[in-house]
This record gives sequence, C-alpha cells and structure tokens, in this order.
Amino acid sequence: MTGEPADLAAAVASGYRCPDCDADAALREVRPLVYVLDVAHDDTCPTLARLEGDAR
Ligand SMILES: [Zn+2]
Repeated sequence: MTGEPADLAAAVASGYRCPDCDADAALREVRPLVYVLDVAHDDTCPTLARLEGDAR
C-alpha cells in the first residue's frame, strides 16, 4: 500500500457491495482528488429505491 488517495478510493470501491443486488461499484474522479462512487443498481433494487426516496 502506497498511501496514494487513488489507491484508498479504489479499495473503497472494490469493497462496496449492495445488499440487494449485484451492483457494480466504480469510482469516478470528478476533480483531482475528488471521487464519486457510482453504483450500478438493478432498476428494481430496493436499496436504490430507498436512496432515491431519501434524495427528495
Ligand atoms: Zn442495489
């Protein structure tokens, strides 16, 4: 482990698992050293529905 922020971010992404579907998680660097975790949930995933409900 080198301690690079990108390495830490990759470790977080690879460790993320949706409890309700087999979502793939991937990190996107939106700005230098600023990462967003994109999770590709199934359309019917209850976790996704809950997340979207909370956002409103
Ligand atoms: Zn999901």
